[in-house]
Parts: sequence; structure tokens; C-alpha cells
Amino acid sequence: MLLEIRKYGSPILREKSQPVKEITPEIKELIDNMAETMYENKGVGLAANQVGVKKRIITVDVGDGLVALVNPNVPHSSGVQVGEEGCLSFPGITLEIERREEIVVEGLNREGKKVNIRASGLLARALQHEIDHLNGLLIIDRISLAKRELISRQLRKLEKETSQR
Ligand code: ZN
Repeated sequence: MLLEIRKYGSPILREKSQPVKEITPEIKELIDNMAETMYENKGVGLAANQVGVKKRIITVDVGDGLVALVNPNVPHSSGVQVGEEGCLSFPGITLEIERREEIVVEGLNREGKKVNIRASGLLARALQHEIDHLNGLLIIDRISLAKRELISRQLRKLEKETSQR
């Protein structure tokens, strides 16, 4: 089932998501729906609060298959990379964002099994982006005020569209 993606201006994007206590059939269904919604919208990642659910769940696919993680955390990270990033909650906007080059992510998979993923490059970037969402952080929080000023009109337009929904 396709889910509605919340755009910039939706309060839930600024809220901290809650840990999942148990992988229930409803959680699995949410993961499946998030993946479907992500692919349909040609995104490389999605966080549950982007579809209105305040739970710590992310889906990512940078072209090498689906990674779905519940309660992800990053115990190790190293290096720096800078690259263009978009976000399904910011249609039409791409920004140059600095991220860690390599990370280790721990969490649970769709079946509730503990997993440990070592990621670099684009996968590491996408995972960091989605984990930011779970903490209420957005790409515009990772650019300079001067750059934010440059896109302020686009941001105001998005906020206005969201408030009229
Ligand atoms: Zn995003």
C-alpha cells in the first residue's frame, strides 16, 4: 500500500521517533509499505516519520537491494564525504551535505534479527540521512545559514503548500 509522504512543514518531521519494542505483523506491514512508497517515488531512502509514523524504522536502497532497519544506531563512523542529497520531503531541492564516509550501523531487520552493516559511500550517506530523520533532523540543518538563505523562497513555498493540505 502506498503511503502519503509528509513534506517540509509537517510537524512530525521535527519530532524524535520512538524505539520499536517488538516486531509485530503491523511493523512488518509498515516496512513493506514504506519500501513500496520509497520505490514508487524513486527515493533512495525513507524514514517512518516521513509517512506519519513516529517509530524508529528506515528503508534504504541505493541500487544494491533493500535495507530495512528497525531501531538503527551508529556505533562507529569515520572519514568525511561531501555530496548532493535530495529528500522526498523536500521535492525539487538538492543540497551538498557533509557526511561520514564510513559507518557501522546496528539494528534489527524485518524479521527482528540483529544485524550489523558496514557501509561506505552512497549507502553510508543514505543511512545517515534516514537516521537523521528519526531524530527530527533534516538536510537543511546540515547546511550553512547562508546556503539556507539562498533556498529560503523554495522552503517558504513548500511550507505553505504543506499547511494548505
Ligand atoms: Zn529525507
